[in-house]
Amino acid sequence: MCPADEEKSQAKQKDCLFCDIARGDMPSTEIYSDDQCMAFKDINPVANIHVLIVPRDHVTHLTCISINHENLLGHMLRIGAQVAQQTGIAKSGYRLTINQGNDAGQIVDHLHIHLLGGGQLERLGTPIESI
Ligand code: 5GP
Ligand code: ZN
Repeated sequence: MCPADEEKSQAKQKDCLFCDIARGDMPSTEIYSDDQCMAFKDINPVANIHVLIVPRDHVTHLTCISINHENLLGHMLRIGAQVAQQTGIAKSGYRLTINQGNDAGQIVDHLHIHLLGGGQLERLGTPIESI
């Protein structure tokens, strides 16, 4: 946890949507769960398959990741690939994405990986030469 998070840690955890879901205080359509992370369907999907892989620990941003989180992040990636298999999109292809901060459009301040697939995805963006 980065220092800024540590300061506000307790208040944030109390007030955090994904902590509530991880604790079972908020409903979700769960796809996978273990002691480190869980995966549930995004409430507002932007692809046929849109699942969020969420750590149980309240880590807010990728910028707050330390060496202590390396195993957790590796685990979340592996679970993303496993959920892709489980949901039948491993062969056709999929995307695993983390939105970090404002410019990337992060709206929930609890680290999560988006698993997107189940149809052709849009390219990541427009080449900046053509904007
Ligand atoms: P971000 O933009 O922060 O990377 O993505 C947050 C995601 O969380 C969004 O895709 C949004 O649809 C999803 N989301 C927001 N509120 C809820 C909720 O209450 N339940 C679920 N399952 N997903 C949510
Ligand atoms: Zn949280």
